[in-house]
Amino acid sequence: MRRRLISLFVLVLSGSLIAQDSTHPAFLGFTPQSTNLERGWEDRFKTIPDPQRMRSSMELLAAHPHHVGSPYDKQNAEWILAQYKQWGWDAHIETFQVLFPTPKTRMLEMIAPTRFTAKLEEPAIPADPTTNQKNEQLPTYNAYSPDGDITAPLVYVNYGVVEDYEELARHGVSVKGAIVIARYGHSWRGIKPKLAAEHGAIGCLIYSDPEDDGYAQDLTFPKGPARPPEGVQRGSLLDAPQYPGDPLTPGVGATADAKRLTREEAGSLPKIPVLPLSYSDAQPLLAAINGPIAPSTWRGGLPITYRLGPGPAKVHLKVSFNWDLKPVYNVVATMRGTEEPDIWILRANHHDGWVNGAADPVSGQVALLEEARALGELAKQGWKPKRTIMYFSWDGEEPMLLGSTEWAEAHADELEQHAAVYINSDGNERGYLSASGSHSLESLVNDVARSVEDPESKVSAWKRLQAQRLVNGPPEDRKEAHTRPNLRIHALGSGSDYTVFLDHLGIASLDLSYGGEDTSAGVYHSIYDDFYWYTHFSDTEFAYGRLLAQTNGTLVMRLADAELLPYDFAPLSDTVHKYSDELKALLKSRQDEAQERQLNMENDAYRITSDPKRPTVAPPAVEIPPYLNFALLDNALTALDKAAAHYNNARGKAGTQSLSAGQLKPINQQLAQAERKLTNTGGLPRRPWMRHLLYAPGWYTGYDAKTVPGVREAIEERRYPEADTQLALVSKALMDEASYIEQLAMQLESAANSTAAR
Ligand SMILES: [Zn+2]
Repeated sequence: MRRRLISLFVLVLSGSLIAQDSTHPAFLGFTPQSTNLERGWEDRFKTIPDPQRMRSSMELLAAHPHHVGSPYDKQNAEWILAQYKQWGWDAHIETFQVLFPTPKTRMLEMIAPTRFTAKLEEPAIPADPTTNQKNEQLPTYNAYSPDGDITAPLVYVNYGVVEDYEELARHGVSVKGAIVIARYGHSWRGIKPKLAAEHGAIGCLIYSDPEDDGYAQDLTFPKGPARPPEGVQRGSLLDAPQYPGDPLTPGVGATADAKRLTREEAGSLPKIPVLPLSYSDAQPLLAAINGPIAPSTWRGGLPITYRLGPGPAKVHLKVSFNWDLKPVYNVVATMRGTEEPDIWILRANHHDGWVNGAADPVSGQVALLEEARALGELAKQGWKPKRTIMYFSWDGEEPMLLGSTEWAEAHADELEQHAAVYINSDGNERGYLSASGSHSLESLVNDVARSVEDPESKVSAWKRLQAQRLVNGPPEDRKEAHTRPNLRIHALGSGSDYTVFLDHLGIASLDLSYGGEDTSAGVYHSIYDDFYWYTHFSDTEFAYGRLLAQTNGTLVMRLADAELLPYDFAPLSDTVHKYSDELKALLKSRQDEAQERQLNMENDAYRITSDPKRPTVAPPAVEIPPYLNFALLDNALTALDKAAAHYNNARGKAGTQSLSAGQLKPINQQLAQAERKLTNTGGLPRRPWMRHLLYAPGWYTGYDAKTVPGVREAIEERRYPEADTQLALVSKALMDEASYIEQLAMQLESAANSTAAR
């Protein structure tokens, strides 16, 4: 209990230093004087992003399919480059050669008990002009599925996640030698074939169930925004939790002459053939499966009885691909800083789509471009950012973050030296601010969210998000939204281009978007995600596009202009406390569960409750988890609390002085490195590419974050000695971070004292 009081005190203290409630607040990292100047430029900036321009840019960028390797993808990159140049940026295209397979053969037929051939085809819709660009569209497929020609009985595996296989085992159903059919959702798609292969399946079908993604959500397109019966979600299967980017060049840039792995050596490639399906193609297959009735939570929205199998439904799946290297075109634009040009602020959104990609990614790309135009405009009016700003329009995000990962791997040394912050966005919709990322940036995000206006409610984006959490949030969020000065930001997993910057290079990162009021999932990665759909069913006025540009542009300006880089380590410390509590609770619940299972077995309870007509199998016995040593972590967090408070105190003192550029520069250079201390050069267990000790995509969840992943996943997967080793590693990193921040606080104090003495 005491610890909570201390961390709240730290937060309130840091809040008062940024003086959010006084009438003339100083921004985080600014003096009162420089705050006034900054506010003037920010106010000017916010008037520039123009919804009409976003609309016409979207119409152009989404006019044709623009996936990796397509002519229009290259044409878009060249158009974007010309825009940056016209707005005064120093811009160029940087190209990499990546493995990107495209389909040659796609065939799926049911051969027993009845015959059915899947259409595997999304029909054009007369009202929507770009849906008939058949010759330019990538057909429906999951990229990086291996070639295969297989025939096997079907097993329905629900979402195909870890717990689903435990449930199947309780019904005595095995997937060995079978083709599994899984529904999309509850995990990133690549986890489904990964787990299926681990359990002995030889193929995997993934379909969109209408309960999650179809008529149960809304009217279907073109009457409404939801997925039509023949709509299919494309998507990549590369094992992002291991490493994203080109599968053949992990850790290095995929330049033309880079040393490449063979496909057999590449660890991120899936092991069994996979094909995605619409619900109209999936329904006859599911209806033909017999065997045990699926548990109630496994039943989707189709008018059939969901059963587990195996068989008698038997399918023949044949897929083959063209395995060429393709070019990706990253557009890189730079505005050099005047005082600290060696510190870089990075901002990006991808430009490639699966097909026409209006929501994903053009809705975010057009906001990014409006920011770049506005910043170019300010520079012409005399605005001089202290630090270097770099804008990126990435290619190859959809196949698994290829453009961003290859660029960052190729420039890793420079980035490690210079990069202070990376800010990402992707698709954007109407609704509430969603902010995830490094918790040292949480206070900055909160400040900026307070300074921009939500177009629907006319309150700040911060106030609207607070209201959303108060009304609709889970109980814990509701309580926090009342009492905590900051709205807590979420942890980053994977699923967009921030991954290499945060997880591999340890650069403090953010991912921002607006959303929650539209059904964007309904056309996700299909031919229907296009200009017609977006301008009928999403942010039709581009009001949230404008807000996204205002939000991210203001973040960039604050970071580029502040005297002192605007990190606040108190929310970091507070959030790691929360993770630590979660880990302790996780261990406790695992101990309780294992104990309960043992008791049930002693009482023969599993056998006695088995229904002879629908028999179930007892779960396997598990060892009771031992106690782990959390003392090191507790000590490290106490040190981090103290250091964060000390630093905020020192920043407060420094904020009343005008420190010289010469005093500030070395401190800022060190501040920019603070996030690196939270990484481990050896990486996480079994995945050396992933180096961040606090955030990672889950090994068995994919896009969803696992926080303190080395410890959490070791507990979840019952590797207790590893959990103890990882606890020691994380604790040491946090202790090092604490002394690093202490040392910065002292430097700041001595600079402030020497200025005050003058
Ligand atoms: Zn995207």
